[in-house]
Amino acid sequence: MLVTVTSYREPWQAHMFQARLAAEDIPAVVAHELHVGNAWHLSVALGGVKVQVPEERLEDAYDVARLCAAGEFRALLEAEVGDLDDVRCPNCGAITFHRRRPLPRAALAIAYSLCWGPICPPIGWLCICANCRTRFVPRPCYKTDKWLATAYLIPLFLLALFSALFCLAMIAACPPSASSGECAAGRAAWFERWIPATRQH
Ligand SMILES: [Zn+2]
Repeated sequence: MLVTVTSYREPWQAHMFQARLAAEDIPAVVAHELHVGNAWHLSVALGGVKVQVPEERLEDAYDVARLCAAGEFRALLEAEVGDLDDVRCPNCGAITFHRRRPLPRAALAIAYSLCWGPICPPIGWLCICANCRTRFVPRPCYKTDKWLATAYLIPLFLLALFSALFCLAMIAACPPSASSGECAAGRAAWFERWIPATRQH
């Protein structure tokens, strides 16, 4: 019987671990990757992407998982591919850090999701060095980050501009001094002119 060793939020993480287990001669399979791939935003609710092994190899798989977490295979990887190009603290060079979303970008993503309906994940990370507490933006993705953040802002700006223009047009069609009859007539004229399909009868 297959049992779950661990689960990951994303399929590629599960495949990395499955390949490590295979390299250690432990047969392993990745389960529910298509399920999560189709509903990625429900990954946590679906229990993530699971790596499963035969029950009798579970303890061996746990051992490999512990070695992975402890960085035991790092030297092997470096021997294979050279410098791992880790994100490093620009102040002390440490590779251990916490990361979180920058608050303005998180706020932007929430505003964006509320405006458009689909969940728009925030872009970019703010790293905080575990050693010296320096805050930094990881450099390898810095340019893509900026570009994507700008791409996020443009539609939001256009939406705000359109909303503002719409409000102005409504105020123009219905000035505060107008009676309710004039107001309805002004609004009807406005729709007549700009949005003929919604012609009022
Ligand atoms: Zn540091």
